Amino acid sequence: MIRVHQLSRHYRMGSSIVRALDGVDLAIRGGEFVSITGASGSGKSTLMHLLGCLDRPTSGLYEFNGRLVHKLSDRQLAAIRNRTIGFVFQTFNLINRTSALDNVTVPLIYGRKGNTRAAAMEALRRVGLAERARHKPSELSGGERQRVAIARAIVNNPQIIFADEPTGNLDSRTGRQILEIFHTLHAAGVTIILVTHEMDVAVQAQRLIRMKDGKILEDRVVDDALRGEMEAADERFRLPQGAGVGSTPARSG
Ligand code: ADP
Ligand code: MG
Repeated sequence: MIRVHQLSRHYRMGSSIVRALDGVDLAIRGGEFVSITGASGSGKSTLMHLLGCLDRPTSGLYEFNGRLVHKLSDRQLAAIRNRTIGFVFQTFNLINRTSALDNVTVPLIYGRKGNTRAAAMEALRRVGLAERARHKPSELSGGERQRVAIARAIVNNPQIIFADEPTGNLDSRTGRQILEIFHTLHAAGVTIILVTHEMDVAVQAQRLIRMKDGKILEDRVVDDALRGEMEAADERFRLPQGAGVGSTPARSG
């Protein structure tokens, strides 16, 4: 589905050049659930914008569904985004003055499809928010706003969803509910690319890509060993000082 070769995105800042993305090679098959992680400024969002056809590379090759993205016109890119890609952002990016239902309808209007209300209601139902259809974003909680944004992302039945720090503005319990929705979409066959700097979120995926300084540092399968490491680190973090004496399992080697 996605094939990238030596993909780079450089920004000119005065007399210097920022290598936001610096020669990335990557292939992602349809149906994968991939997380992209790394410190702030490592190039996660830049990569997501390129893969999502929101931006063009400075150099390198990008093939999406067999089409060379850098050769397509703005109109062709917009059509690909509208038909096959859904986006979810940290700050939800909803229109505040209109209802949840109208927000979810927006991509359908661009696509000039009939019966937009029924499709938008169905998308809201899929994220468990049908009863909030008439509410404006200001009348919804953070988690509910993100669910509206996910409904908007899936209303055109995209093949792939790009989510950039989708749980970044949510408490951990609400974040888990949002991740449940991604798992459900993944189980239904949607490819998920999840950008996050939180390791406990990243290990929810099947595959984890770690970035540093615009390059891929590590690209690995998420297995029980990695999830176990994460949980162990988490527990050590939570354990109050002096507590839990004798409860730590003895380790050999
Ligand atoms: P991340 O999402 O991992 O935090 P980004 O992809 O947003 O990282 O940014 C990677 C690097 O590129 C950072 O050093 C950032 O400052 C720089 N950068 C991103 N967008 C721009 C831009 N529009 N102009 C100049 N520099 C940018
Ligand atoms: Mg970012």
